Amino acid sequence: MRQSQLFTKTIKETPREEISVNAQLLIRAGFIDKLMAGIYSYLPLGFRVFKKIENIIREEMNRIGGQEVLMPALHPKNLWEKTDRWQYPEMFKLKNREGKDYSLGWTHEEIITPLVQKFVKSYKDLPVFVYQIQDKFRDELRAKSGLLRGVEFIMKDLYSFHKDENDLDEYYEKVKRAYFKIFQRCGIKKQTFLTLASGGAFSDYSHEFQTITPAGEDIIYLCQKCKIAINKEIIEKTKYQCPNCKNKELKIHKAIEVGNIFQLGDRFTRVFDFQFRDRDDKEKYPVMGCYGIGPGRLIGAIVEVSHDEKGIIWPKEVAPFQIHLIKIENNKKLEKTAEKIYKDLQQNNIEVLYDDRDKSPGEEFAEADLIGIPYRIVISERTLKNNCVEIKERSRKKASLIKMNRLLQFLNSKVNV
Ligand code: ATP
Ligand code: MG
Repeated sequence: MRQSQLFTKTIKETPREEISVNAQLLIRAGFIDKLMAGIYSYLPLGFRVFKKIENIIREEMNRIGGQEVLMPALHPKNLWEKTDRWQYPEMFKLKNREGKDYSLGWTHEEIITPLVQKFVKSYKDLPVFVYQIQDKFRDELRAKSGLLRGVEFIMKDLYSFHKDENDLDEYYEKVKRAYFKIFQRCGIKKQTFLTLASGGAFSDYSHEFQTITPAGEDIIYLCQKCKIAINKEIIEKTKYQCPNCKNKELKIHKAIEVGNIFQLGDRFTRVFDFQFRDRDDKEKYPVMGCYGIGPGRLIGAIVEVSHDEKGIIWPKEVAPFQIHLIKIENNKKLEKTAEKIYKDLQQNNIEVLYDDRDKSPGEEFAEADLIGIPYRIVISERTLKNNCVEIKERSRKKASLIKMNRLLQFLNSKVNV
C-alpha cells in the first residue's frame, strides 16, 4: 500500500486524555481512534493487525476441531433469567418500543447451550467444539486502559460439550496448548504464564493466561521453580506456597489477563435440561468448558510489551505490513527504482507499506519508528550509487546495506514466515 493513499495520518502529540501506553501509541500511529471511553474504531493499519491476530486464533481453534459460528449480540431476557444472570452488573440492558427487554451479550453460555441442545441427542453426537469471534459488551467501570479494557470489544469464545469429565479434561489440555501457540505466534509467549485462578464449583482451578507488563491490572505470583503463576485469590488460600510444586519462592508481577479458560461442568446444561442418551442408555447432562481470548486486549498487550521511546515494535506475524519502503530525496531515477522494488515485493507477496510522500527523511523515519513495521528499507542517492538499499530491523539499532539483486532472496528467507 502507498502511504500517500492512507486516509489516516500519524499524530505528533500524545493524546491528552489517554493514560495507557498502548492507547497513546496506537492512536498516535494511526491504528485506532477513540469514540468514547473503552470504545474504539480500528483504522486501516489497526484492522490489518486485528485480522492477523483473528486469523492466528482461528487457525489454532480449527486445528483443535473448533467449528466457527456467529451468534447474535442481542439477547432475549428469558435465557438470562433462567441462569439467574439477568442481574449481572456489567450487562447492558435495553428495551424495544413495546417495552420488551433485551440485553447485549457479554458472554454466550446462555445462547450456545440451548443451541447445541437442539442437535445433540446421543453420546454419538459428542464431543462438540463451537467458537465465534464476536462483539461483546460490558459496562466496565475501569475503561482507562485503551484496548486492554473495552466496553465494546471482540472476544473469541469457544465452548466445548463432552460426555464426561475425562473427555473434558483431555480437551482442556489441548486448548491450553493451542493458547500458548497463539501467544507464541503473537510474540508474547516469553512474557505469558499459565496462572491458577479460582475454578468455581466444578474444578480446583480455572486457568488464566497472564502476560507480565507494568501496565497489567492484575497481580500474579510466579513460582520460580515450576514457572506456573498463581493469582491473588488462590495464593492467599495456599498461604503463599505454590500449589503445584509446594515451592515458596515466588515473584510478584503486574500482568494482563489475555486469556481465560474454565471447566463449567453441568452448570448450564442442567439449567437448560440438556441431556443426551449415553452408551449405557441413561440420560445424562453433558459437561462443558468455555475458553475466552480477547484479540483487542492481545493487541494492547503486544504494544505494552513491545515498544520503545520511538514507537511500536510489531512482532512479525502480527505486523500490519512486513516492509516499510522509504525513498528519500526526490529524483526520477530514485523514484523509478523505488517503484520497481515496490512492485517486485508485491509480486512476491511480501506486504509492503511504501512511503511515496515528499517529506523530510527525519519525519519519514520518525513515523516509520512510530508505526513499527519489522523491516525498514531505505533507498537514497547514496545507496543507489552502490546499487544497494539500506535495510534495518525495527528492533535493532544498526542498519546494513544489501545489494539490490539480492534483496528479494533475502526478504523471502526472512519475511515470508
Ligand atoms: P478481567 O478480569 O480482566 O475483567 P474477565 O475475567 O472478565 O477479565 P473473561 O470474561 O474471562 O474476562 O473474558 C475472556 C477474555 O476476554 C479475557 O481473557 C480477555 O482476553 C478478554 N476480555 C475480557 N474483558 C475484556 C474487556 N473489557 N476488553 C477487552 N478484552 C476483554
Ligand atoms: Mg471482567
